[in-house]
Amino acid sequence: MSTRILVLGAGFGGLEVSTSLSERLGESVDVTVIDKSDAFVFGYSKLDVMFGRTTLDAVRLPYKSFAKPGVRLLRETIIAIDPATRRVTTDAGVHDCDFLVIALGADYDMAATPGLENANEFYSVAGANRLRDILPTFSKGHAIVGVCGAPYKCPPAPSECALLLHDFVTAKGVRGQCSITLVLPLPSPVPPSPDTSKALLAAFAERDIKFLPNRRVARVDASRRVASLDDGAELPYDLFLGVPKHRAPAVVEASGVAEGGWVPVNPRTLETKHANVYAIGDIANTGAPKAGVFAEGAAKAVASALIARIAGEGAAQLYGGAGSCYIEFGGGRIGRVDVDFFSGPKPTGTYYEPSLALRADKNAFGATRTTRWFGL
Ligand SMILES: Cc1cc2nc3c(=O)[nH]c(=O)nc-3n(C[C@H](O)[C@H](O)[C@H](O)COP(=O)(O)OP(=O)(O)OC[C@H]3O[C@@H](n4cnc5c(N)ncnc54)[C@H](O)[C@@H]3O)c2cc1C
Repeated sequence: MSTRILVLGAGFGGLEVSTSLSERLGESVDVTVIDKSDAFVFGYSKLDVMFGRTTLDAVRLPYKSFAKPGVRLLRETIIAIDPATRRVTTDAGVHDCDFLVIALGADYDMAATPGLENANEFYSVAGANRLRDILPTFSKGHAIVGVCGAPYKCPPAPSECALLLHDFVTAKGVRGQCSITLVLPLPSPVPPSPDTSKALLAAFAERDIKFLPNRRVARVDASRRVASLDDGAELPYDLFLGVPKHRAPAVVEASGVAEGGWVPVNPRTLETKHANVYAIGDIANTGAPKAGVFAEGAAKAVASALIARIAGEGAAQLYGGAGSCYIEFGGGRIGRVDVDFFSGPKPTGTYYEPSLALRADKNAFGATRTTRWFGL
């Protein structure tokens, strides 16, 4: 019988680990990927959808296009994981395996912020898509881009949202009637890269965007239209664009594999404390940020370890904790920060100024993954 590998989640991490395994091992292994959704959406596409730059249909990458030798992708909802026996139960049955890769991402804990369920968030596909109709109705008053807790995915994304909102109301001719405030539970927009943070702070100042660092939104009162921060301040708003507190999916918490909210792993090998069970991407506590490019790097490391163990081919590569993040500065220009979490004594980030050329880079980043994973 072929070695059975079960990959939970077909996001950045799950798509890459199964693609890498298929490339090297093809039909000689039995890879099963399970996801409850019917399509993948890049995280950054949510910003494009909410600001009306594209439609949800245009950015959904349907899993039916994911066809790889040796891999089957099942649309099922995972309801229990037993890491000791590597048995996974879904709404459709039971799956056993020799190697288990948990890549279930981060979920949103709406209940952690009272009142948030009555306000808007832009981190889920549904939330971003709803905002597509709501944003055009905002033409005066206070807008808040508010983060409800750290860690959260893609640390620059709330800054990007504030800058794109500036462009949006400017294009509408109503910027003078609107204020924009960004609330972030971090000391600076991109802490590992002081140069990137400095550039973002300068961009906020140029555009009159108010930046409130080291604070989070603790409560939202949608009837009074007031957001309360954890320092007791109350900010009135006419438009609230929230980032919910993140948490591990409930099924992962219930499995006992998470500790302190996330799955502890060896940050270089992604091994959990359970034999032959790995965790990658946003769900894993590696010390690196929660972003797709890091999930992908971890997936490549795990795939190389599995290929070495199963087929005796090559050597297991250690996860490097490094990656490039693109940052929308508005006006069609994109900056980049190359962050490296593991090489030195502390994380570093090299900043590249926003340009139109980097927009082409970002487009190529998306296009290569779309082709590699979906053949589109
Ligand atoms: C607004 C925004 C902008 C972003 N911009 C960027 C960017 O520019 N660059 C970047 O690198 N990253 C960006 N990100 C972050 C990026 O999207 C995530 O970090 C990345 O998707 C994490 O990959 P993952 O594989 O760990 O999890 P995910 O991609 O979230 O995949 C997890 C999968 O598990 C599935 N799942 C969960 N629970 C179950 C269950 N019980 N049963 C079955 N399936 C389940 C989900 O359906 C999902 O498909 C952004 C995110 C947001 C919200």
